[in-house]
Amino acid sequence: MTVLTADWLLSDTLAPQVEGDPLAPLYAGSDRGELVLPFCAACALPLDLDQQVCDGCGAAEITWRAVEPTGTVHSMTVMHRREPGLVVAAEPYPILDVELASGHRLIMTTRTHPSSLPRIGDPVAVAFRNLGGVAIPSADLDPAAPPTTEASS
Ligand SMILES: [Zn+2]
Repeated sequence: MTVLTADWLLSDTLAPQVEGDPLAPLYAGSDRGELVLPFCAACALPLDLDQQVCDGCGAAEITWRAVEPTGTVHSMTVMHRREPGLVVAAEPYPILDVELASGHRLIMTTRTHPSSLPRIGDPVAVAFRNLGGVAIPSADLDPAAPPTTEASS
């Protein structure tokens, strides 16, 4: 029996409906611990998650495959708005636009509540949050990075 721990950020009621979802290959990969993203089946250009037609060659066939789960923070914003009953985090939380080694860009938050805010250019290892039993890509900030030290006055 799998013991599920509640997500740090969102209510389990926001778990995506996986079956029939166009992103089902992403969720299935995430469930195996793999980051699976869409590519153009004709020219192998990385595609956005909701992209139906390739910008490069105009093909409308998509293939999903596992990619290297690493990248860097391209941009970051801090969300202060909370939705009672849906957002369970008590503090503002970061939303990252991660530029992946595969060429994809993926919007995600962190796997756990970060002790400090990520910065543009920070390395990211993509890991997975568990939201109501569905694995969701999320950012692990580089564990190899030197710990930030709070300067005491
Ligand atoms: Zn193409």
